[in-house]
Amino acid sequence: MKNKIIAGNWKMNKTIAETKQLIGQLIPLVADTNNTVIICVPYTNLATAVELTKGTNIHVGAQNCHWKESGAYTGEIAPSMLVELGVEYVVLGHSERRTYFGETDNTVLLRTKAALSAGLKPIVCIGETLEERNNGQMEQVLSRQVKEGFKDVTVEELANVIVAYEPVWAIGTGVTATDEQANDAIAFVRSVFQEMYGKQAADQLYIQYGGSMNDKNAQGLLSMSHIDGGLIGGASLVAEKFAQVVKAHK
Ligand code: PEP
Repeated sequence: MKNKIIAGNWKMNKTIAETKQLIGQLIPLVADTNNTVIICVPYTNLATAVELTKGTNIHVGAQNCHWKESGAYTGEIAPSMLVELGVEYVVLGHSERRTYFGETDNTVLLRTKAALSAGLKPIVCIGETLEERNNGQMEQVLSRQVKEGFKDVTVEELANVIVAYEPVWAIGTGVTATDEQANDAIAFVRSVFQEMYGKQAADQLYIQYGGSMNDKNAQGLLSMSHIDGGLIGGASLVAEKFAQVVKAHK
């Protein structure tokens, strides 16, 4: 049985002072879990988060990285810069980056390859919009995102990747996919990975659900056979709520 991987995506929230407070509250609340706990914080809080979580079971992630090692890319951060800080994970291709910052399957692939080469573990987000779901295009969109977004990723590299299935219509809206909707979509995503990488790699791949997951609905979602964890936005900003998600599945 896989344990679950629960990652908090703080998005553009929390000052350094607030980061210290939230991590201080979180450490004792999640200390006894067998699940993997990750917090993905803004760049400005990474050093603080790495320092405060040393010796604990909380891992630290960033929310994006560039694909080049260095150069004239104003405002961007290289994967090696994150590694130097002690960061282990990085969220890539989040729907907010796809929607507001022009991220495409191809740029997600470039970032994923670069993150893997630097030794980071990417959490790669995919998911359909409401319009795409209503038009019956969910499978087509998910299939394209996986096939294009992973086309140069090797089977060895895939072992260090986490995928987050996040239906865009459920992110930050309070509308959660039902347990069955989330499980069915993730089963489909897993079947696409199986086509590309074979059954063993697809079975071992961790695929999280994300989209308004919280302390109330986490138990149901995490009990589903294909759901290997969660990527949590809003509810990860409150220590007690995030801890309840972390501990929802024993
Ligand atoms: C997210 O940011 O990845 C997310 C799922 O957000 P929320 O939990 O707030 O819907």
